[in-house]
Amino acid sequence: MPGELAAVSLGSNLGPSQALLARAVETLAALESCQLEAVSSLYKTRPWGDVEQPDFLNAVVLLRWQGAAHALLQQLQSIERQLGRVRDKKRRWGPRAIDLDMLCFGDLQLADSDLTLPHPRMAQRRFVLVPLAELASDLHIPGYGSVASLLAQCPDQDEPLPVRKPEPWYEQE
Ligand code: ATP
Ligand code: CA
Ligand code: CA
Repeated sequence: MPGELAAVSLGSNLGPSQALLARAVETLAALESCQLEAVSSLYKTRPWGDVEQPDFLNAVVLLRWQGAAHALLQQLQSIERQLGRVRDKKRRWGPRAIDLDMLCFGDLQLADSDLTLPHPRMAQRRFVLVPLAELASDLHIPGYGSVASLLAQCPDQDEPLPVRKPEPWYEQE
């Protein structure tokens, strides 16, 4: 069984960001329920929502997940904790060592206390849409449309800058 196709966005602007993003991808790839399909380039991006903080590094991965969407969310949160994510309850979009958001999970649309799919703010964020479009510009985001159409309509002015690397930025198995 191939599992559901999911897109996950990764971000960091605290600590050794590139190494933290690489560890997150490698940890996901090692999970039995996960088959990595594609990993975007790294992008340097301006902070969104709370601009008084360092630039971020962002990327997106596509993966096939064998199991429930909530189980993938739990794994993402467990990797965040392993990599030293500390939640600041007073600052909503503040600096963080690692942030892993589930953008979409197959055709699933849901909103409960733990999980909203597709991610409700993805259409407003070029730092999500640009790396996602690098991997799958014709991917259909349920309730929204194709990634390319979201990007064409996105009001965000901040263009992510690709970080050119001669080598892949994470260890491949
Ligand atoms: P944003 O959601 O705007 O990107 P954030 O990533 O900073 O903000 P967090 O503090 O990391 O927000 O997460 C807050 C809560 O969002 C988590 O506890 C999680 O249960 C919930 N959540 C809801 N939908 C999703 C999703 N699609 N992916 C990840 N977390 C989600
Ligand atoms: Ca986020
Ligand atoms: Ca998050």
